[in-house]
Amino acid sequence: MTTYPPPPAFAVERSGDRKLSTDRTVSATWVSQGSCPDTCSLKNAGCYAETGKSNIHTKRLNEAHALGNFTPEQIAEFEAKAIRRLKGKYDLRAHIVGDCKTVESAKIVADALNEYKQRSGKRVWTYTHALNVPRKVWGDVSILRSCENQNELLHEHNRGYACALVVPEPHVSHKPVKLKDGFTGIPCPFQVKKTASCKDCGLCMNDKHLHAKKLVIMFAPDHGTGKKVRKALQILPVIADNQCGNLTVTA
Ligand code: SF4
Repeated sequence: MTTYPPPPAFAVERSGDRKLSTDRTVSATWVSQGSCPDTCSLKNAGCYAETGKSNIHTKRLNEAHALGNFTPEQIAEFEAKAIRRLKGKYDLRAHIVGDCKTVESAKIVADALNEYKQRSGKRVWTYTHALNVPRKVWGDVSILRSCENQNELLHEHNRGYACALVVPEPHVSHKPVKLKDGFTGIPCPFQVKKTASCKDCGLCMNDKHLHAKKLVIMFAPDHGTGKKVRKALQILPVIADNQCGNLTVTA
């Protein structure tokens, strides 16, 4: 039966995203960008989910959101229901597109994700751009705060978040790089061809380890988003010293 307005969120049992797994053994959720904080510089300005095949789903979800004029909490309820319908056979990546921009919406989604983790015993991970949601809301879900420049890292670390960092240029190598304030940047192993998939890598699925070691996952623009991302980030000097001058490549 077709519902109207269409839901602004869905979950897939077996994601075809080749980055997540090579054999479609990761589940995933997709949510309208109405759930994303307006403070995210990449929203409508270089977000990877606005490119290629992903953009087909992103557009459809955004249209559903426009029709339903949903609140962040209503969107979260749709997502939570979709998560509860998953069988629990696979690791779960939340928010291929989407986020939780209010504390209440984060609680709704976090409850469903923590339930999933408990009933399935699988790994559950996601990322957030929200500035206002305390880390404890997410419980046992592995969540990385997506930062747009190094100046955010220490503040977010002190709020309890492990961090990811969007960098404006391609990685120069797979080697870790020294960042400000004692952080170490790890170029995403998938992007530097050191792993076949997130499922094999697993770094983002253990935010406690990343937080304890002050490790930051670095994401370079992909899917041809480099120009837009550089514009959105205003080419902040966040990467290795042979490109921008403020970092040192470690041995
Ligand atoms: S660091 Fe690993 S788990 Fe995280 S996005 Fe890259 S490949 Fe996936």
